[in-house]
Amino acid sequence: MKVYMSVDMEGATGVTSSKMCSPKEKEYRRGRKLLTGDVNAAVRGALDAGAGEVLINDSHGPMTNILVEELEKGARLISGSNKPLLQMAGIDDSFSAAFFVAYHAREGTEGGVLNHTLMGSVVTEIRCNGEPVGETGINARMAGAFGVPLVLVTGDDRLADEASRLVPEIETAVVKTGMDRHTADCLPPSATEDMIREAAERALGRCGEISPCVPETPVTFDVTFKTTPSASMACLFPSVQRRGSKEIRIEDDDYAAAYRKMWGALILGWNAMGGVLER
Ligand SMILES: [Zn+2]
Repeated sequence: MKVYMSVDMEGATGVTSSKMCSPKEKEYRRGRKLLTGDVNAAVRGALDAGAGEVLINDSHGPMTNILVEELEKGARLISGSNKPLLQMAGIDDSFSAAFFVAYHAREGTEGGVLNHTLMGSVVTEIRCNGEPVGETGINARMAGAFGVPLVLVTGDDRLADEASRLVPEIETAVVKTGMDRHTADCLPPSATEDMIREAAERALGRCGEISPCVPETPVTFDVTFKTTPSASMACLFPSVQRRGSKEIRIEDDDYAAAYRKMWGALILGWNAMGGVLER
């Protein structure tokens, strides 16, 4: 039995400030340590439930956050950020279940700690087939396209609510309660370690009962950018349609292809914000 684990950072135990998630900041050292603790707890739970292999995909910022030197034996780590499938790199139909660890609520969620969608400075909203989605919704459908169910999320209470609306049977480990985008009521790692390990073990034990989040096809992603140049430069891709001053649409019959195009459009949109050649 193989487990796929996509690991963000804002939803880690004790993390409430973006300074804990940014390599340029002193507080990042604490964030990495706390994050690796949550990841190891989820790995131990998966191994206790009978997983033979756990593939972890580091999925925040530069995607080199997890301390491999402290990682549990039994896990493998995809580290680095040049990945066409981004937060879902390495997913395929050989996995029995997916875990999303240290995830956060989508942009605009009241009280969701560090809430945003993929690129906080670039994206206002993403809709998939008309439904507003966060990273959980976007990535759960990617796993679902390969028949892999999302069985566990860890993060704050708002993330747990978002995931439970998507997958009602999902296991959640709530490591903090959001009070504001920058404030939470946090449990210490001594409490969340057992909580995450036990939730991971339960989730994998129930993975046969939890349905994959199979995407509707054809797939449409509507992206609303924060600025107009992002939308205009994203349309350099011939398949990207302009829908408004800050809005684009991507369509494809295949979810993975749509996901890759959407990520490509965001990279262009991000680069365009300050002028693509102004570096
Ligand atoms: Zn992140």
